[in-house]
Amino acid sequence: MSLGCYQTVLFPTEGKSDFSSWNPLKNSQLKGNKISGVKFSNFQVSQRRKCIPMKLKSLLSVDSAVEIEGKEGVNTGSKYDAIVIGSGIGGLVAATQLAVKGAKVLVLEKYVIPGGSSGYYQRDGYTFDVGSSVMFGFSDKGNLNLITQALAAVGREMEVIPDPTTVHFHLPNNLSVQVHREYSEFINELMSKFPHEKEGILKFYGECWKIFNALNSLQLKSLEEPIYLFGQFFQKPLECLTLAYYLPQNAGDIARKYVKDPDLLSFIDAECFIVSTVNALRTPMINAGMVLCDRHFGGINYPVGGVGGIAKSLAEGLIDQGSEILYKANVTNIIIDQGKAVGVKISDGREFFAQTIISNATRWDTFGKLLKAENLPKEEENFQKVYVKAPSFLSIHMGVKADVLPPDTDCHHFVLENDWTRLEEPYGSIFLSIPTVLDSSLAPKGRHILHIFTTSPLEDWEVSSGHIY
Ligand SMILES: Cc1cc2nc3c(=O)[nH]c(=O)nc-3n(C[C@H](O)[C@H](O)[C@H](O)COP(=O)(O)OP(=O)(O)OC[C@H]3O[C@@H](n4cnc5c(N)ncnc54)[C@H](O)[C@@H]3O)c2cc1C
Repeated sequence: MSLGCYQTVLFPTEGKSDFSSWNPLKNSQLKGNKISGVKFSNFQVSQRRKCIPMKLKSLLSVDSAVEIEGKEGVNTGSKYDAIVIGSGIGGLVAATQLAVKGAKVLVLEKYVIPGGSSGYYQRDGYTFDVGSSVMFGFSDKGNLNLITQALAAVGREMEVIPDPTTVHFHLPNNLSVQVHREYSEFINELMSKFPHEKEGILKFYGECWKIFNALNSLQLKSLEEPIYLFGQFFQKPLECLTLAYYLPQNAGDIARKYVKDPDLLSFIDAECFIVSTVNALRTPMINAGMVLCDRHFGGINYPVGGVGGIAKSLAEGLIDQGSEILYKANVTNIIIDQGKAVGVKISDGREFFAQTIISNATRWDTFGKLLKAENLPKEEENFQKVYVKAPSFLSIHMGVKADVLPPDTDCHHFVLENDWTRLEEPYGSIFLSIPTVLDSSLAPKGRHILHIFTTSPLEDWEVSSGHIY
């Protein structure tokens, strides 16, 4: 069982005024494709009936090769160009991007393997994804395949299995919608459920494509760096103006311009909720445009062997570049000198120093625990007054006999039973991933993996000291 924190996923095509006739995906190839950074495999769908909880062991089986490699050569005395606290995908991408440009980087990870919420663990022949399994930005197309690009930067290529259905929604009033990889198939299915809203559906998703196309035309390095953005503006003024227009808008308001059916508006809420854990009115339109189109543009692809392979590959690539990772290194303090972060201290007392300190820990851990209160930057103080934490997840990972699942079961499901108002309530909805539908190598023969998770406030799990679940 694990609790994790889901962060808003930002993912980002050329708008056309005639949305109805436009299918940007006609030429997408799903099978047997090899590209730089990502290699496609044929996907298999297997069949499945009765649920057997797997036997639990107290010890995790981890890839010792990753651990040992990562420990070599770390020297507290050496001065690094950069230290990265945490080896989640975010930390590893930052570290590898610096390393390939010649920087000497040290990544400090408190756990025993890399990946964080996109990590993995193994038990009794099963390889479980800790969290993430719908991988956005992991295709062979466009500018927004940021995971593919990060892997390619360190010379890594992963074999992937194209997911034919990003998610299968099971919603109130018996509404069942499959988000097919092919955009036209998805849109036609949605229009068949809401025939009176055809025009509204095409217009709403059409606006999403305008955003996606604008983002996809840029070299998306930073949305926060003014000088970089200024340079981009001169190269692509129309696209930048499109993004500036949508920047202050949310998906719910735009949906309401075109759609009246309350069930369809609730469906759009569910579309946003599964990527941002908030409804459409609270989901920035830029975010909605990215994810609701990337899944059709490049498609969702599952890495053969499990999501953990992405972090492992990045970690190996980092070491190949001459940088280092130290596991079981819990950073307890960021060391400040004259108002600047210059080093870190880990729980065993060792200190490491670098010109730049990058934190991949949560924002609240970075500013609330690793830095002393008196060092809190003013911008952060202001930010803390307005931000609201996303809910945590309660996850259950289990192995089941393959025949418990009906044939042709999709890999990813979202279930909200009976009542739309429960969407954002804790425990109100269920996410289900069955990655073995795509990659049977993750489980022993004749078995499937179920990863079931729901939103759950962390406070529900706070217990007096000494109590262990
Ligand atoms: C159940 C679940 C399902 C999800 N499903 C999806 C999905 O399908 N698609 C999707 O796109 N996203 C999904 N997400 C979200 C996605 O997994 C995360 O947004 C992403 O993995 C976060 O990466 P990160 O690098 O920012 O942080 P993290 O993965 O949180 O990594 C932070 C790392 O820093 C380490 N660390 C923290 N503090 C310290 C310290 N003091 N010292 C040393 N190390 C430290 C942690 O151990 C961890 O390894 C899911 C998340 C969860 C929990």
